[in-house]
Amino acid sequence: MTVIRPGDEFLREPYWQHLAEGTLHLNCCNDCGSAHHPPSPICPKCRSFNTGWKPATGKGTLKSFAVARHAVHPLLADQVPYVITLVDLEEGVRMVSGIPQGMDVDLKIGMPLECKVIRIDDRLALPYFLPVDEAGNATTEVPD
Ligand SMILES: [Zn+2]
Repeated sequence: MTVIRPGDEFLREPYWQHLAEGTLHLNCCNDCGSAHHPPSPICPKCRSFNTGWKPATGKGTLKSFAVARHAVHPLLADQVPYVITLVDLEEGVRMVSGIPQGMDVDLKIGMPLECKVIRIDDRLALPYFLPVDEAGNATTEVPD
């Protein structure tokens, strides 16, 4: 699979490092407790510089989705069509994600989702949000 890698940027390095270790972490304010994404050196709610990283629950709901049928970058030409999702996490953060190639998932706005960190290679892992039932059990299986 062709991957467009994230650029080197010190603010986001912990985000990618935690994903490479298999967990989704969010940038959080140590003063007011709010979570933010993308990471910021300043809390957007209380303007504190006292920020850090906390593990996310990985639980969220599907806010919206779209199917990309035209590659927005030449490196993605072999992947169209692909699904782009907009996910609202329990922590109050909204993230852009997608559905892994090869998965046939019936998406419905408002459905519960849970994060599954999928390793792309030895340096990169990405957070995907996949459907779960009301008990939190996965309703789809990630292909190898
Ligand atoms: Zn704050």
